[in-house]
Amino acid sequence: MNTLNQDGVLDRTEREPFDSADREIILAVNDPEQLDYVDALPMTDEEQDAKFSQVAGVSVFSSEGTTEAIYSAAGAVIRGSDLVVEEYYETAFAIIRPPGHHAHKISEGFCFLNNVAIATQHVVDHHHIERALVVDFDVHHGNGTQELFYGSKQVLFFSTHRRDLSYPASKSSVNDIGDGVGLGYNINVPLKKGFNDVDMLYVCDQLLGPVATAFKPEVVFVSAGYDAGEGETIGGCNVSAKGFGTIVRKVLIGLILYCKCCSGVLDLPL
Ligand SMILES: [Zn+2]
Repeated sequence: MNTLNQDGVLDRTEREPFDSADREIILAVNDPEQLDYVDALPMTDEEQDAKFSQVAGVSVFSSEGTTEAIYSAAGAVIRGSDLVVEEYYETAFAIIRPPGHHAHKISEGFCFLNNVAIATQHVVDHHHIERALVVDFDVHHGNGTQELFYGSKQVLFFSTHRRDLSYPASKSSVNDIGDGVGLGYNINVPLKKGFNDVDMLYVCDQLLGPVATAFKPEVVFVSAGYDAGEGETIGGCNVSAKGFGTIVRKVLIGLILYCKCCSGVLDLPL
């Protein structure tokens, strides 16, 4: 927050209060058993070792305050989506932890609840949104979001990621295109290790733009993991800060122009 303040970002933004997520809203995508699990997370290293050591590969870690943070994170995204859908703002940005895009019916990959999926289902259920686009540019595949909306045609999931990072146990494929009525509403764009601004902007212009134009989303969620950024050694890719900014502007400004013009053409400027 100090850096955001020093850079003048806080002066240019409005900050909104939010509540922890309602259990009822979360339960639209999760089973009660998962909330029981979240409510009873271990708070000490000893308790954690006893509980999680029996579950190989799940990669979740908790301490005192984790449960509260999980409900707060989901609540922040819900609040942001309410404000945008109700047109108080054109865009909202939630700076939250823990993240969510690996979580589905179970918690995994540092993710307990899928914040974006919960908020997306919320706007579909409570704001009569018929077409929501979820763009996920984290370097890892958003397996949780894919799984939760794999059979939905109301939510189009579009994920760019490094194709050789099978984490947490995700085997993404371009052939994963949805199921049932959701056939064609799941798009994976696996990219080579080291992908950069040029690669991402090419995908935006040549694929995401036309897809969004055809889908005509009423709202867009961005799962904005920045681990494809240059200098991030685990991600091993080279998207610059300016590149991320351009991608987000293309997605969001394109949508805003589309909504205002209702022209049927999602022009992606910049
Ligand atoms: Zn990631």
